[in-house]
Amino acid sequence: MGEIIKGKPVAEQISADLAREVQGLKLRGIVPGLTIIRVGARGDDLAYERGALKRCEQIGLAVRVCELPENISQEIFIKALEGINQDPGTHGILLFRPLPGQLDEGVIKHVIRPEKDVDCFSPVNVAKLVEGDPSGFPPCTPTAVMEMLKFYKVPLKGRRAAVLGRSMVVGKPVAFLLLSEDATVTICHSRTLDLAQEMARADIIVAAVGRARMVKRDFVKPGAVVVDVGINVDERGELCGDVDFEGCLDRVSMITPVPGGVGSVTTSVLAKHVVKACRQQTGILE
Ligand code: NAP
Repeated sequence: MGEIIKGKPVAEQISADLAREVQGLKLRGIVPGLTIIRVGARGDDLAYERGALKRCEQIGLAVRVCELPENISQEIFIKALEGINQDPGTHGILLFRPLPGQLDEGVIKHVIRPEKDVDCFSPVNVAKLVEGDPSGFPPCTPTAVMEMLKFYKVPLKGRRAAVLGRSMVVGKPVAFLLLSEDATVTICHSRTLDLAQEMARADIIVAAVGRARMVKRDFVKPGAVVVDVGINVDERGELCGDVDFEGCLDRVSMITPVPGGVGSVTTSVLAKHVVKACRQQTGILE
């Protein structure tokens, strides 16, 4: 039977370490600050926002939400973003995406200041991710995958990793992060031939496909580590991942549950990025 590796202990350790760091910064008169920009009131944005507020407040960060109307014009949105870019109390900016259609993400991604862009919207941070430059900010969810693997001491160097999904939100970034840790990475997608066979060569599987329980037992090499990023609602209305958890459990060495896996680590990574951004901007690196 595989070990079920949960996100909570990972999130708690990151948060406890950060709380200590933030206390140290506060003694020097600095409070790391996050501004969340939300356009409209989408349910999943609100749910993530609640989690992020709770986590950041627990760690001692200053967080504020800039709520903008759904029908905001591009010009006014950019003015608001430029104002937040200039705000000395804001070290990190999280911008919920996708933005409504009248806002051109292709333009706006160049406006957010890269050093405050804690969730990899700016092309500067995308380039740093691809280059393996650790001064940047990879997106929070793929970073949460890496935090899980680190916490549970999963060896990556030289190992075969297969990532299912190639979005800019999860699949591609996680592939680059695994590559930075010297894994040998295969990225699978909807045009991959012999998908199960391809995946079953991997020592580590990261599933980010957005299809309920698609990764079946025959996708998994015996003893593999399986990280499930998926958040889906199945035909019975239940929350589930991209992996057939029950079917794979006795075949894996480790597997993350959904819910309670990667998703619970994401807001701690967000907070970690805000503290890193604050240190970079204030020059307090120790
Ligand atoms: P996405 O943009 O829809 O990308 C899905 C990827 O899966 C695409 O690359 C697509 O391939 C591939 N795919 C789709 N159907 C496939 C099939 N039948 N066979 C092989 N590949 C297939 O999704 P995403 O934004 O990356 O999100 C992936 C999952 O992660 C979702 O369940 C989402 O809810 C979850 N998620 C979780 C968190 C978290 O905090 N835990 C955060 C973000 C996302 P093509 O490129 O060829 O179309």
